[in-house]
Amino acid sequence: MLEAPRRSQVFNLPIDLSDDYVSWVRSLWQQNRGAHVVTLNSEMVMQAERDPQLAATIQQAELVIPDGAGVVFYLRLRQQHQQRCPGIELASALLAAAAQLNLHEPIAFYGGAPGVAEQAARSWQAQFPSLRLLTFHGYLNPEATEALQQTFKAEQPRLIFVGLGVPRQEFWIAQHRHLCPQAIWIGVGGSFDIWAGVKTRAPVWWCEHNLEWLYRLYQEPWRWRRMLVLPQFALRALVSTHTPNRYSAGDPPA
Ligand code: UDP
Repeated sequence: MLEAPRRSQVFNLPIDLSDDYVSWVRSLWQQNRGAHVVTLNSEMVMQAERDPQLAATIQQAELVIPDGAGVVFYLRLRQQHQQRCPGIELASALLAAAAQLNLHEPIAFYGGAPGVAEQAARSWQAQFPSLRLLTFHGYLNPEATEALQQTFKAEQPRLIFVGLGVPRQEFWIAQHRHLCPQAIWIGVGGSFDIWAGVKTRAPVWWCEHNLEWLYRLYQEPWRWRRMLVLPQFALRALVSTHTPNRYSAGDPPA
């Protein structure tokens, strides 16, 4: 029997601890249990602190995984040893699992500049020809957005990746998940750009040394202002180490 993730906290946000998120999400989708999966990093935690609507959306998600090294650092300070699970890796593993399962329903990619989701889909289809992928770029006009919603209703994709950036993708999922209640909805940020080859992920060495953020800064220097929150997060994580959590791992939130 697969063990459910244990719910803990990062400041006032939930985080689910597990050794195997892929199997857990697979089991949710095989039981037709729809879910919103949030891939939490420290930038998002700090953003949610200033944005109560984002905090509430994260609190309502069925699964919150530790996408970033900062979140893992926060947990380690509290003796909770959890491996990082970057959202793009979870999404890739789920696509491979879907290909194995020979799903009848399609998988949807929504987001990115025009052409990017299509290019990402082509690259996945070259690897797994059995996958049926629906693609939509992230700058649709109102009529095309309406058409996307009609397609979702009619086709009932089982996996829906939304890459509109934070917090837009989280809000979009929360507002539209009723269209496909049995789907697994994941906010995947810039994953389509990486799958399409428009951007590259930090090489392994950078990731292993918790420097993925620095590589991103080098690729996208305009991020410097957004990244000023990272040292703030680390400092607050250290300072608050002795403040007990509202509830401990394993207990559901009140
Ligand atoms: N994006 C989009 N529609 C928008 C704004 C952004 O599709 O209206 C896409 C953008 O093209 C990029 C992704 O959202 O592919 C955001 O990627 P980023 O890596 O900035 O995500 P974050 O850091 O917020 O997770």
